[in-house]
Amino acid sequence: MIDADIIVGLEVHCQLDTRSKLFCGCSTDYRNDGPNTHICPVCLGLPGTMPVLNKRVIEYAMKVAKSVNCTIADESEFARKNYFYPDLNKAYQITQYDKPLAEGGYVEIEGDDGKERKIQLTRIHVEEDPGRLVHMGNAERGRYSLVDYNRAGIPLIEIVSEPDMGSPKEARKFLNKLRATLEYLGVFDSEKEGSLRVDANISLRGSERVEIKNITSYKGVEKALTFEITRQKNLIRRGIKVERETRHYLEARGITQSARSKELENDYRYFPEPDLRPLRVQPWLKDIVLPELPDARRERFVQQYGCSLNHARTLTGELKMANFYEAVVAGDGNGLCTLAATWIADTLAGELNYRSQGIDVVDAKKFTGLLVLLKTGTITDKSGVEVLRVMLDAVNQQKVMEDPRTIVDRLDLWKISEAGSLSSGVILPKIGQISLEVVIENVKKENPKAVDDYRSGQTGALNFLVGQVMKKTRGKFDPNDINRRVRESLGDPLGK
Ligand SMILES: [Zn+2]
Repeated sequence: MIDADIIVGLEVHCQLDTRSKLFCGCSTDYRNDGPNTHICPVCLGLPGTMPVLNKRVIEYAMKVAKSVNCTIADESEFARKNYFYPDLNKAYQITQYDKPLAEGGYVEIEGDDGKERKIQLTRIHVEEDPGRLVHMGNAERGRYSLVDYNRAGIPLIEIVSEPDMGSPKEARKFLNKLRATLEYLGVFDSEKEGSLRVDANISLRGSERVEIKNITSYKGVEKALTFEITRQKNLIRRGIKVERETRHYLEARGITQSARSKELENDYRYFPEPDLRPLRVQPWLKDIVLPELPDARRERFVQQYGCSLNHARTLTGELKMANFYEAVVAGDGNGLCTLAATWIADTLAGELNYRSQGIDVVDAKKFTGLLVLLKTGTITDKSGVEVLRVMLDAVNQQKVMEDPRTIVDRLDLWKISEAGSLSSGVILPKIGQISLEVVIENVKKENPKAVDDYRSGQTGALNFLVGQVMKKTRGKFDPNDINRRVRESLGDPLGK
């Protein structure tokens, strides 16, 4: 079975970042507060209360719909989805069913073949979040569960895609693009715990469809799908039919597990919400102004700053990273555009990812200072990485980020150009006068076999010798300089 036979569709639930809940005035800023402190008779669904629709939620949802090219319905409608679960205090959820706010549309991603492709959307609708259960002990063998209704009534949009993605990687790209778009719109905060939840449908062509419920992280979606593909392929290989079923993703173990029962649409007994009028909001559309979105910004980064397409894609893939880049190159008298793109999109992003830090911990001015040192050739790339790590470590230790020059000074990293003469380094280094030539001669003496090997034509030995020199000089010299110097000092292999 080849990968072209994988079909993936996603249902993405995002909390909209409004100040109050969907149908009452309770604050949505509940995460640092005690349980059941952001509640009122409306979001508790007490008898005799009536929901009042938060206009801002509809505006936000329309912004999203417009940005992904959906059609806003002439008339949409809220519906009650009836079921019992302890986190659902009313025993029904107000959502939208057969008359969603918006339909159609697409999200553009870079497909697995490297070409831009449009992932088609089915619909976008608005609904309320249920409360939250906190299981004491673990989910399988909990002693008891607590319920917190702070989350009940938080506004959500559900974005449903067509089964239009061909791999777990495309699903991740779709999610990343969606997240970036929502953040650019200012309607969503991906850093808030639980602000995004995904259900994924997956089938291998010719087999039944399996739904994986309630995946709560971006990485989790790709992992859950990858696990599920392997599981289904193994079944098929052994001649066992893939059952149509709902499965849960167990994040900690990285596996999916069959859910015991599957609800059918009929079980929910949807009916129109009697306490809310139908929505006729299409006329608002003309007043909804969209900001610059990720694709437009990516194009601008290529045009304005000369970024490569890949760098522009990475930089604009997150609002904060794009803003950081523009802060670094702002009014760029330093000619740093290209260098900054490489160092932010590749080096810094990698270091932050490794440390699970966000880019907002980095002081743009100090980072620019580091780039200037690199640009002027005052330190080598290798030293640059070392300095950057010290800067980021300081943040982890809750200290103030040091000025890169101070770090270079302290760690004695000023670059020396050939043969010990000082480079354009503005501050005099305290390195003692190491001469590159002396180091090379020492390395040659210590490694006579490598020298012989090189001279007898095994050119691979050169890399070894260069490596030894780099180790001894701790990154103070440019690797290209070292390479050339060592070669010169050895003479041509085979005496040629
Ligand atoms: Zn409330």
